Amino acid sequence: MATVTQDDVLSVLRRIAAPDGRGNVVSAGLVSGIAIQGGTVMFALTTSPQHAKTMESLRGAVEKAVLGIKGVDKAMVALTAERGPQQGGLPQPQGQRGSGIPGIKHLIAVASGKGGVGKSTTAVNLALALTSLNLKVAVLDADVYGPSIPKLFGLTGKPEPSEAAGKKMKPMTRYGVEVMSIGFLVPEDTPMIWRGPMVMSALTQLLRETEWGEADVMVIDMPPGTGDVQLTLAQQTPLSGAVIVSTPQDLALIDARKGLNMFAKVNVPVIGIVENMSYFNCTKCGERHEIFGHGGAKEEASRIGAPFLGEIPLDTDVRRRSDSGEPIVATQPGALHTALYRNVARQVWASLEGGQLGRPAPRIVVDGQ
Ligand code: ADP
Repeated sequence: MATVTQDDVLSVLRRIAAPDGRGNVVSAGLVSGIAIQGGTVMFALTTSPQHAKTMESLRGAVEKAVLGIKGVDKAMVALTAERGPQQGGLPQPQGQRGSGIPGIKHLIAVASGKGGVGKSTTAVNLALALTSLNLKVAVLDADVYGPSIPKLFGLTGKPEPSEAAGKKMKPMTRYGVEVMSIGFLVPEDTPMIWRGPMVMSALTQLLRETEWGEADVMVIDMPPGTGDVQLTLAQQTPLSGAVIVSTPQDLALIDARKGLNMFAKVNVPVIGIVENMSYFNCTKCGERHEIFGHGGAKEEASRIGAPFLGEIPLDTDVRRRSDSGEPIVATQPGALHTALYRNVARQVWASLEGGQLGRPAPRIVVDGQ
């Protein structure tokens, strides 16, 4: 079989005109991240909001051209949004569905500097708490390295293909929330080895090839950490803002600062920081134990000027219910944790709709970076 090279791909792409009529898609700088694996070619095509409509047909044309190259049997072209320096997170005009994803008003990322801090648990309970404010909510699991959203929602099985829209899939629905995850599509024990462009194209497919209903907010559970993959995701997904989850430990805070820096780099406003596993209320002795120290996130948030959204204590019920697919906000409406997550949700929504997101994340210098 013929070996496909980057030059082969570039030379066919050079024959395709850019949407503004100035040169071709390559000379206009719209093509990035070309990755070739055997007969599969993947790359990103950058679009801007004013070209969003024409770009979908351009993507089709580009895919077709690439499929015409000898040796190519699959072409995955991800449309990615261009973000000008002034654009990220500026308040959206009222009434406009502004995320670039049809029907979805706001996309927010839930991120953490490292794994295991409760990012996915927070994403799920925040999404459910947003529904309790009478908002329509969707969840996209972008944590391709360890997709835990299906388990947290207690969802199994595969998404059904859409009857209407070609190769689109229907999201799964639980507790009134539409959910899509790569975890629905690959067996649980499959090791997933991803490279940057693959993550982008998998995510773009999950985002754009799902038949989402209307949603006020889509909560995106990001992969943990602040590496290149996360940075690209933050940059190329039209986010209204980001919530950072941190535990009180110093180390986690340093990681949280890296998270803040990452969003600052790509002009995505940080909605605020949630301190998870903040303290433990002992049901036996009645005392409050501050296992990892306490208050660090709040102090840090005020020091760097990022809003502090609240403290979520360690709680065995949170863990047990997460593990059994019955998240506390959905199943224990009267619990303390439910009230705490609702309080976070109210602040998030106020921030999205109250026009408090004009300012990008503060830029912080982390030692050793
Ligand atoms: P991450 O997405 O950051 O890797 P998870 O949300 O998967 O983290 O949480 C890691 C583990 O910690 C899970 O077992 C989860 O149930 C547990 N957990 C998260 N938040 C809490 C909490 N506030 N109290 C008790 N357990 C928690």
